[in-house]
Amino acid sequence: MERARDPYERERLRMVEEQLVRRGVTDARVLDALRKVPRHLFVEEALRDRAYGDHPLPIGEEQTISQPYIVALMTQLLELSERDKILEIGTGSGYQTAVLAELARRVCSIERLPRLAERARALLAELGYANVWVRIGSGTLGWPDEAPFDRILVTAGGPAVPPPLFQQLAEGGRLVLPLGDPVNQTLTVVEKVRGEMKTQEHGECKFVKLVGKYAWES
Ligand code: SAH
Repeated sequence: MERARDPYERERLRMVEEQLVRRGVTDARVLDALRKVPRHLFVEEALRDRAYGDHPLPIGEEQTISQPYIVALMTQLLELSERDKILEIGTGSGYQTAVLAELARRVCSIERLPRLAERARALLAELGYANVWVRIGSGTLGWPDEAPFDRILVTAGGPAVPPPLFQQLAEGGRLVLPLGDPVNQTLTVVEKVRGEMKTQEHGECKFVKLVGKYAWES
């Protein structure tokens, strides 16, 4: 059967060259995943023509889909292998979830707002991602039944590493998260080395708030 033509494919390929390759994203698997995932389907119809621009966009409920560069950078910082089991906190639109699902064995994603979680779950299923589980709940508590995780990604900004997430990280695992105040954060990579936290910082970023226990109240 002939594949339906994707009217946004050229824009997507241009996004990868101009916003990612040119700014130093080098991981070929990450670049391929962003060439493949149809980002325009993760925003409402009226915003589709802006889906490949160099910016975040609103997804309802005062939340945003992250800028393509930030998605690529965080995914690269995770240093994924196709055997990895990942926990993601903050499903939002499900776009980052799809990128992770292209690159890893299994993705468990938690979203606190039911409407966003349900929409993302339906879209990811429609796109054929069979290795993704989306759950409605409080992500700062992690997903104990599925732990340990090789990699954990938090796509909302909090004040500190929530202890349950570090506990649920496998030995040798990596946790990527924005840490700071409610407006500005530093993209942070935490590794678990012989049970201890080893931290590196990777520049400034701006995420919506991580809400819940061990994070902001609202
Ligand atoms: N990666 C998503 C980002 C969405 S914005 C995307 O690109 O579409 C961050 C999301 O984190 C929001 O949907 C918000 O509701 C969610 N969030 C904030 N705190 C959370 C928590 N404690 N547990 C689960 N989700 C949370």
